[in-house]
Amino acid sequence: MSFFLSGVHLPHRKRTEKCEPAEMPPPKTVILPMTMHIGTPARPTVKKGERVCVGTLVGEAQGEVSANIHASVSGTVAKIEDITLASGAKCPAVFIDSDGLMEKEPSLSAPEVKTSEEFLAAVKKSGIVGLGGAGFPTHVKLASGARTLIINAAECEPYITSDTYTLTHRGADIESAVSLFQKFLGVEKVIIGIEKNKPDAIAKMREIATKNEDVELKILPEVYPQGAEKVLVYHATGKVVPAGKLPQDVGALVLNCTTAASVAEYMRTGMPLVKKCVTVDGDAVKSPQNVLLPIGTPLSDVFDFCGGFSHGVHKVLYGGPMMGVAVPSLSLPVLKNTNALLAFGKESAVRPRSTQCIRCGLCMAHCPVRLAPFNIAKAYKNGNAEMLFRLRADICMDCGCCTYVCPAKRPLAETNKMAKILLREYMKTRKEGAK
Ligand code: SF4
Ligand code: SF4
Repeated sequence: MSFFLSGVHLPHRKRTEKCEPAEMPPPKTVILPMTMHIGTPARPTVKKGERVCVGTLVGEAQGEVSANIHASVSGTVAKIEDITLASGAKCPAVFIDSDGLMEKEPSLSAPEVKTSEEFLAAVKKSGIVGLGGAGFPTHVKLASGARTLIINAAECEPYITSDTYTLTHRGADIESAVSLFQKFLGVEKVIIGIEKNKPDAIAKMREIATKNEDVELKILPEVYPQGAEKVLVYHATGKVVPAGKLPQDVGALVLNCTTAASVAEYMRTGMPLVKKCVTVDGDAVKSPQNVLLPIGTPLSDVFDFCGGFSHGVHKVLYGGPMMGVAVPSLSLPVLKNTNALLAFGKESAVRPRSTQCIRCGLCMAHCPVRLAPFNIAKAYKNGNAEMLFRLRADICMDCGCCTYVCPAKRPLAETNKMAKILLREYMKTRKEGAK
């Protein structure tokens, strides 16, 4: 049996996949947190009262693993104030009052690059981060030196279709991105990994593969979490990324399809990452659709644009139902890596009460990395960090498959998240003790 053959079959509920995205007018105010990426927060470069245009730098990357942040509307900086993100972390945010004109920053032009270093420097300038949800700065990822590029077009979470829009409408940018990566990064082989449930997108990607002999189109089964990096690397190349290692350790680079298209768009236009296509769906949303909007748009404005709520909202998520993060307030903004906003009423949001574990083993059988979630939960309950270390709780990818299949409705994935925090603290103490 293959290592990564587990996972779960989910109802797709991708009712927005055929919908042409609606372009949202600029909101009254955008909120740009200096943390919209993994790594060091950016530093604000503007002051209250300053005029900015679309694409003006408002936050400068600090250090290597960080990302620039740019104004997504033209207008005036209203304030710079700390906000609390959905993760609970606090960071400064630049608030810009829009003048409604969407005037473009006059100093912007398409970058001229001749070398690999210049290409990576341009990507860094663009502020592009992993748009599939991870938010990892793209210039850092592209510098990995891997020779096999896997374009992640799986989009395996239910509801979300914003990548499908990229695949069906931005094929030219994906094709151009592939050429750029071949030219400047020495990429020898490109694999576009896509689930078989997207026939229109497959047809578009087949056009690219037909024209370029180094591009292979890999049609993948519809199994969640097909888009998780390690699962995708295995299904695309047959290579197993060992526990605690990254795809680059087996010579692969995984890049989300919208991230790749955004790199090409930046090289073509010089316009940094300032807007997004976001899927707005869930049973509480009156008019589910894909929306093109400025990054930093408050969530309340986005839901209003989609007709508001049809009934009481019990839960709002950034992202899909499996890996999404609960939104504590609709005053929070759309972030660079927000690919979906889902709103659910009480009936679909409240989970049934959990009962005793019946030792059926289903959670382990469906875990893509073959962990034992019931044992991890037990070790966490007992505060046994050494056992969590032995059970490799650190490699849990938060996919939620274990919670989904558990007949006793135990909140296994949520417990794993807490277990990982406990394990991290334990490892830190262990390291300090060894000094
Ligand atoms: S959330 Fe973690 S433990 Fe549960 S199935 Fe996914 S990887 Fe395995
Ligand atoms: S799936 Fe649920 S009931 Fe079955 S072993 Fe895992 S925790 Fe226990």
